[in-house]
Amino acid sequence: MKILKIDHLGIAVNSIDQAKSFWSTVLGLHFEGSETVAEQKVTTAFFPVGESEVELLESTAPDGPVAKFIEKKGEGIQHIAFRVANIEEALAELKAKGVRLIDEKPRIGAGGAKIAFLHPKETGGVLVELCQRD
Ligand code: ZN
Repeated sequence: MKILKIDHLGIAVNSIDQAKSFWSTVLGLHFEGSETVAEQKVTTAFFPVGESEVELLESTAPDGPVAKFIEKKGEGIQHIAFRVANIEEALAELKAKGVRLIDEKPRIGAGGAKIAFLHPKETGGVLVELCQRD
């Protein structure tokens, strides 16, 4: 598997509107806009940082994965995303190595990227996302 870079850090927040000012006004990062991914019950907001991005995540429903994360752990870093050259290949390799996956097949995330999550029990408690952008 070829990991190209850290694509983004996913940060769970109660409100993008409230959290946004720290990232844009205080740190001076450019707010690239937000997008709702209905299937994941989440609204995302992206702030490019060099070759990577900060992705704020706000749940759109009380039973969404981001809402559940905040309920358990509070606001904070929710996942780390690695960009891979070929996500199908990476998933096949991980499966062959016996790594438990949340997504056996890639699905479409924010920005039209192909994404898949590994099971946090396999990664020392870190939710790892793979993503491929063409
Ligand atoms: Zn992500």
